[in-house]
Amino acid sequence: MKSISKNTLDEPVQYLKSVGPKRSESFSKIGINSVRDLLYYFPSRHLDRTTVLNAAKAYGYLMNGYDGELTVIGKVYEKEKKRFGKREILKIQFKDSTGFFECVWFRATKYFYSVFNEGDLFAISSKPEKSKYGALQFIHPDFDRISEEEEKSFLHTGKIIPFYRIPKELRSGNIGDLSLRKIISIAVENYADQIDETLPLEIINENKLIGLTEAIRNYHFPESTEKLNSAKRRFKFEELFYLELLVALRKQNYQAKLAGNKMIIRTTLVQNFLQTLPFELTKAQLKVLSEIKNDLTSNKPMNRLLQGDVGSGKTIVSLIAMLIAIDNGFQAAIIAPTEILADQHAKNISAMMKKLYKHFPEREIKVSLLLGGQKKSEREKRLEEIELQEADIIVGTHALFEEKVKYKNLGLVVIDEQHRFGVRQRAKLQSKGKTPEVLVMSATPIPRTISMTIYGDLDISIIDEMPKHRKPIKTVLRGENRLPEIFKFIIDKTHEGYQTFIVYPLVEESEKLELKAAETFYDTLKKTHLKNLRLGLIHGRMSWQEKEERMLLFLKKEFDVLVSTTVIEVGIDIPDANIILINDAHRFGLSQLHQLRGRVGRSDKQAYCVLVTRDEIVRYNIQQRFDLEYLSSSLIEKYKSAIRLQTMIKTNDGFEIAETDLKLRGPGDIFSTKQSGFPDLKYADIVYDADLLNIAKKIAFDLINKDPSLQMESNLVIRNNLIKHYSDNLQYAKIA
Ligand code: ADP
Ligand code: MG
Repeated sequence: MKSISKNTLDEPVQYLKSVGPKRSESFSKIGINSVRDLLYYFPSRHLDRTTVLNAAKAYGYLMNGYDGELTVIGKVYEKEKKRFGKREILKIQFKDSTGFFECVWFRATKYFYSVFNEGDLFAISSKPEKSKYGALQFIHPDFDRISEEEEKSFLHTGKIIPFYRIPKELRSGNIGDLSLRKIISIAVENYADQIDETLPLEIINENKLIGLTEAIRNYHFPESTEKLNSAKRRFKFEELFYLELLVALRKQNYQAKLAGNKMIIRTTLVQNFLQTLPFELTKAQLKVLSEIKNDLTSNKPMNRLLQGDVGSGKTIVSLIAMLIAIDNGFQAAIIAPTEILADQHAKNISAMMKKLYKHFPEREIKVSLLLGGQKKSEREKRLEEIELQEADIIVGTHALFEEKVKYKNLGLVVIDEQHRFGVRQRAKLQSKGKTPEVLVMSATPIPRTISMTIYGDLDISIIDEMPKHRKPIKTVLRGENRLPEIFKFIIDKTHEGYQTFIVYPLVEESEKLELKAAETFYDTLKKTHLKNLRLGLIHGRMSWQEKEERMLLFLKKEFDVLVSTTVIEVGIDIPDANIILINDAHRFGLSQLHQLRGRVGRSDKQAYCVLVTRDEIVRYNIQQRFDLEYLSSSLIEKYKSAIRLQTMIKTNDGFEIAETDLKLRGPGDIFSTKQSGFPDLKYADIVYDADLLNIAKKIAFDLINKDPSLQMESNLVIRNNLIKHYSDNLQYAKIA
């Protein structure tokens, strides 16, 4: 009977054999309350006999120069604590049937001393080392206790043993490797078959997945390696499928709930504007523009992501979209990530609108800038302009989201985004107009897998072509010892009319020290290598007005060289700045380097990006060809900074760089799913499971297309599971 079996799964773990009140309290500290929770507490890794070596074999591996991790099983033979001055070292000898090996701890020796008891059996996993006396040694290894019984059955029948993470909350509740395995095996034995399937049968069959019960069993206690892999695949699929369902529902909800503005091309405004531009739009710009125009003129609201590399000309495209909105009697807002950028947008757009008015004086387009730091009187005036629709284009930062800002007739919102605007903010802004159309611009290209997930509810337009006549930036890598030559190059180029950015990374934690470091670099350069050039300084401790002042002086060519900490990352246009020298380049992230490089190369002159780093990193780069497809994760980790620099030299293509960055950093680091309102991924990895993501996306979107509110009998499973387990993520995706 279903209702009864449901109840038992939701029973407190306390009632499981060998748990009891004390242990159940420990479980609850790590969020395990019910039997169901326990069934979903999966092993962090597994051990199967094919991956275990005996001590003699492991020693052989070590002597042959093996550089990876390996696992050995042995019995604690002898423990020894040694004191060297203040430091204590713990050394434990282990024994198996073929010989001895030792493990060494330098930290938390007291704790580890208490963990290893003579006669106990452990699986030790780590990179092997050779001790001073030539013995096989592991330093601070991973370890898991196993019982003799487990070892026997393991070795003789080829079973796979699960190892669970045992946080201190469990340890202090007297739950260790052996007891946790026991408790979970009881749970799996008695309850796994009562769990309700969370995927429709059709999807399971079509995708050759295994059922939920079988997957749970095999994730914990796999019958075979194949079964374990099937279990993992099932959970990954399920996770990605539900993620994409939420994406599809959000998109569907947005389009169903809101009717768009159905604009038309009424006058020659846009045409006139195009005539005032000193250049022709690229094919790619025209293509995305027609996609945007389709959205604006249809009655579905636009919700589009415009991607393109730095300098590919997104701003002009968005401005044309704004003009279409204005042509239809609406206001348009553009939101920048920083005040200085908002300010620059406002100035550029005003200048273009003035030019337009001069040539076509039928209609004056008014631009209004709203910033957090404005004087009260100024701000009041802007707010009034916005409320009375005296302003057609409103430029600003987050301040445009505030309650106080009342738009008379907001028809289009352009968000010049750097992954800083979450879905909540987007929704908030959308609530400010009747149904404003939304165009999100991304300065950093977003890898496809990411745009399929956290941006998956947006339609995507890509500008994949740079304006003509623009020469690719020349990027070189140099060791620090070559700085004098580089400075000479900068001086020579200055005489040809070039300007130069010199960037130093923020090394100091404290703002005071940072300021000092920036000033020191600046002073030194001024006194030594660049004493005949005019230098300016810009750093993170300045207010945006100060920064802007300096940038404007640089733009007016009052300086030849601008020394800066990373503040120039935001996109200020300086046409003659065609050299960027990045010091300690190994300290910067890949997309940060690419952003910095994007500051130059905005004219038809040859631009240069000089990456300066430690000599040894330059040497790796000359000797090694790093291919991420074939490198193990530990080598990638080890050579990360060298790989980043090599990528910069190899390519100017922002999308390629974004993909590599994603591989190097992992998705969590770059894109927080939390801020997007989507659940975090526990099982799947967006980089490595991209194929599965593609499949899951297609199935999810087809399904929502056919059954938008999940009413069909066959989709009831999905509906119930969404309500039960994803209620937090449903706020932008109604299924009622
Ligand atoms: P993005 O916002 O994509 O970084 P911008 O819109 O700021 O790029 O454009 C960078 C520069 O290129 C600007 O000075 C802009 O006027 C110019 N630009 C834009 N489109 C073209 C084009 N089709 N041909 C030549 N120059 C262009
Ligand atoms: Mg831009």
